Amino acid sequence: MTGRLVVVALALLAIICARAAAAAPAVLVSVKPLHSLVAAVMAGAGEPGLIVKGSGSPHTYALRPSDAERLAAARLVVWAGPALESFLAKPLAALAGKAEIIELDRTPGIKVLPARVGGLWEEDRDDPLRKEMPGDRDGHLWLDPENAEAIAHVVAARLAALDPGNAARYRANEAALVDRLGAIDAMLARRLAPLRNLPFVVFHDGYQYLERRYHLDAIGSITVDPEHPPGARRIAEIRAKIMAVKARCVFAEPEFTPTLVGTVVAGTGARTGVLDGLGAALPEGPELYPQMMDGLAQALEDCLAPR
Ligand SMILES: [Zn+2]
Repeated sequence: MTGRLVVVALALLAIICARAAAAAPAVLVSVKPLHSLVAAVMAGAGEPGLIVKGSGSPHTYALRPSDAERLAAARLVVWAGPALESFLAKPLAALAGKAEIIELDRTPGIKVLPARVGGLWEEDRDDPLRKEMPGDRDGHLWLDPENAEAIAHVVAARLAALDPGNAARYRANEAALVDRLGAIDAMLARRLAPLRNLPFVVFHDGYQYLERRYHLDAIGSITVDPEHPPGARRIAEIRAKIMAVKARCVFAEPEFTPTLVGTVVAGTGARTGVLDGLGAALPEGPELYPQMMDGLAQALEDCLAPR
């Protein structure tokens, strides 16, 4: 290509990019799995911003000044709701009227389960702001692919209304995403069917939607703060619990060191695995959700399946 053609091509590209950037409204999403679904709906029109990046947890996140600036500039904010993302409740209330807000745990069409308390389910002790009460909602709602479909519908409809110039694109992306989520659901149903009734324990109660949809048998949580490893007495309690329920597997999360997980299960006969229900270990974007669901199925198969 001659230099002149390159200049023309670059100028055209700049115009196209400027148009796309100008056209799509500023959208901000709380956590990676929800961001992935919104990014898939917006593909080709724009990219949503993400608040809790990397391996951050919504249970312990503290809003930064740069987040507050992005919230102030957003036209649409998508979040799960105050039970999961307590850090966002006040900043969003302060925004009232400036942005449209989709609070998913109060959105018609999305199935919301109550948070589990009592018995072998422990509250999230690592979050002093989160006081789990009976009747509180479980905000990890993206782990049921039917909810992910409902999220695609709600977000596409709202975006199409906010940005009519890109409505056809949002609707086409929504249809493609719903197809893909149907395939993900069928894949999980097939792979997880042999794992029914095999008891396991999780490090935090974040997988209820997955368990319900695929009839998995999680029997309790042993919330452990990654910043403050448990002492000998607490480890003894946890071990007694794992043995009492005859857990076949204990699932930690990516932020825990294998040493700590090994200490917790030593002598119990349980295997160990890692569940990443936030996509903490994955790069953000439209592919995160499919990769995360595949990773969850893989981790459950690897740890629970008979050998
Ligand atoms: Zn959680």
